Amino acid sequence: MAGNWKMNCDNDEAKALADGVVARGGQVEDALVVLCPPTTALTTVQASIANSAIELGGQNMFWAEEGAYTGEVSAKMLLSCGCERVIIGHSERRGRFGSPDEADVEDLDAIFGDTDATVNRKVLAALAAGLKPIICCGELLAERKAGDTDEIVAGQVRAALDGVSEADTANVIIAYEPVWAIGTGEVCDADEADRVCGMVRATVADVYSQGVADDMQVLYGGSVKPANVEGLMEKANIDGGLVGGASLDAESFGELIEAAAASAE
Ligand code: PEP
Repeated sequence: MAGNWKMNCDNDEAKALADGVVARGGQVEDALVVLCPPTTALTTVQASIANSAIELGGQNMFWAEEGAYTGEVSAKMLLSCGCERVIIGHSERRGRFGSPDEADVEDLDAIFGDTDATVNRKVLAALAAGLKPIICCGELLAERKAGDTDEIVAGQVRAALDGVSEADTANVIIAYEPVWAIGTGEVCDADEADRVCGMVRATVADVYSQGVADDMQVLYGGSVKPANVEGLMEKANIDGGLVGGASLDAESFGELIEAAAASAE
């Protein structure tokens, strides 16, 4: 169960939330728990989770090791903050709502510019540095309505994994996040989420092998909350969740951790 705090929590708020998550679910053994706070709060959260089983993740990274890239962070920097994982290719960073060149400054959804190619570079750089990527994929509402969901998602998965060795797949998590379900309260029907996660797995099997696909951790993300988590976690192709809004409340996130642990039993 991974919590993506997005651009929320200053350091005081981050400490309070991380302490709350540790108290609520820090000792759960049957579920991998990852907290992805904003970069400014990584070391604060790391201190809070130090004596728990919870792992730390970044929300994004740049592929170069160092250099004149103002405002970016490298895999090495995330590792030095205690990160083991990093979210790569979140839809809020993919620039799939338009081009930054054409964007009005008010059009915040179009400002960021990750593409399948930059996502792939980031995945390769993360793995080379020893950081485990959580790769996001997912279709826009218009793509779903046009019947293109599988083609879009499979294409994103193939592109992200291009050049990733079979051995390195053990360090990869894939999160299927239909863009129309993120932060909207609109959860994808559990059967449909399971179907697409199964299609993601089949794509991985096609690229590598059925064994790699069976071992791959595939998450669902998009308005996961205590009220719908059990229905999602009981699905064969869904191993866990990537959670935004509900991860900002320790009690809610604790319930999600417990649901993930229960489904692993
Ligand atoms: C996310 O941030 O990846 C996400 C799925 O957000 P939410 O749970 O708020 O829909």
